Amino acid sequence: MRWNQRVFAGDLAGQLGKEVQLQGWVQYTRKSKKVRFLGLRDGSGILQVVLVQEECPAAAWETFSQLTQETALEVTGRVQASNQGQFPFELLCLDLKILSDSQAYPITPKEHGPDFLLSHRHLWLRSKKQVSLFKVRSTVIHAIHEFLTLHRFIKMDSPILTQTVGEDPAGLFSLSYHDLGKAYLAQTGQLYLEASIFAHERVFCFGPTFRAEKSKTRRHLSEFWMLEAEMAFFTHQDNLDLQEDLIQYIVQQVLEKCSWHLKQFNRDQEKLKKALNPFIRLDYSDAVKLLREKGQPIQWGDDLGALDETLLGEHFDQPLFVFNYPKVVKAFYMKSHPSDPNRVLCADLIAPEGHGEIIGGSERETDYEELKQRILAQGLPLQPYEWYLDLRKYGSVTHSGFGIGLERLVGWLVGLHHIREAIPFPRMLERIHP
Ligand code: ATP
Repeated sequence: MRWNQRVFAGDLAGQLGKEVQLQGWVQYTRKSKKVRFLGLRDGSGILQVVLVQEECPAAAWETFSQLTQETALEVTGRVQASNQGQFPFELLCLDLKILSDSQAYPITPKEHGPDFLLSHRHLWLRSKKQVSLFKVRSTVIHAIHEFLTLHRFIKMDSPILTQTVGEDPAGLFSLSYHDLGKAYLAQTGQLYLEASIFAHERVFCFGPTFRAEKSKTRRHLSEFWMLEAEMAFFTHQDNLDLQEDLIQYIVQQVLEKCSWHLKQFNRDQEKLKKALNPFIRLDYSDAVKLLREKGQPIQWGDDLGALDETLLGEHFDQPLFVFNYPKVVKAFYMKSHPSDPNRVLCADLIAPEGHGEIIGGSERETDYEELKQRILAQGLPLQPYEWYLDLRKYGSVTHSGFGIGLERLVGWLVGLHHIREAIPFPRMLERIHP
């Protein structure tokens, strides 16, 4: 059998009454006197296998007693309809063969603390909810590629080792780079994407991003995945419209393809559907006013804190763009507001239900001198940015872009309390193992 002919549990919809053979692992077992059940997990999900004593060979019936959590096995069975579990069908067992045993698997169905689970992340990934979570994450990644490709975007991978400081010098992981001094792990690929728009107009990169900031919150990881997009001939308004369309496409795809997985998290899918309505757009000054009315100590000129974002998200109960922040709290490359030099043309997208910022975006400064002065004003050395400044010399055009934190997005879609679960192997202030 060629590799692409293997049958998965998820392929059995049109096979009612047929005999098939599946391989996988034991997710759970249950038994009564005459009927026994096992959950068989394969790459497509978890399928219920039923053993009925009269229809099952005695050897297979006996083998069932040796099954433990995570035993690898091969099951032969007949597909029949069912309304239990992930699939609308199950397998009536006709034979059962153990491929490899599993002794004293440490993650049992009882409750385990987060520290124990994170220390056993290499095994925790097999748990039912975690399996669902990564099906959602993968659906999101696929939806992003699909949407962007459909709209003429080209994927242009950006370097991970860089000499330039993207956002915040204090948040950089540094290392020594051959004989050339210090290099940094990329905080963003944006500057490199900006170079690519002149060749392709619409580009994106999607890769790991590193932040050394000492943020011990439920929304910060030291390594996370960011989708960044950059578009030529794109204004600030175009940028917001595109972000709204992209997020709505992702939400639609997740609702359509992952409903069962969302149910494993008791996700209120009606709340998610609200994101299909137009997003709220709120001027930064109005956001400050509203937050002050709610008793927050924020002043005009401050960045929004995590609690501010939570309160705004709960107030509107809808994804919300807060736009045109003060220049002092944003990165040097954002375009100055044409009629208010203290502000920049930017927006953060805040997710509802307390999930905080999921996108940061802006129109980019196109003026060579203004950009140079902003780099200097932030105390950054000019030399590593000379190539970036060059982009303003040769056919500079209006352009905009944004970055979505994948784990924050998935955290919101699924309803996670902490985003550390939304990445296979989280790296945080206090954890780099396994
Ligand atoms: P915050 O203020 O919440 O720390 P930021 O303003 O530094 O975020 P950006 O630099 O604009 O964020 O990054 C774009 C997106 O990347 C954010 O909207 C968020 O979704 C995600 N992101 C940023 N920092 C982190 C992090 N440490 N862990 C996980 N995701 C992050």
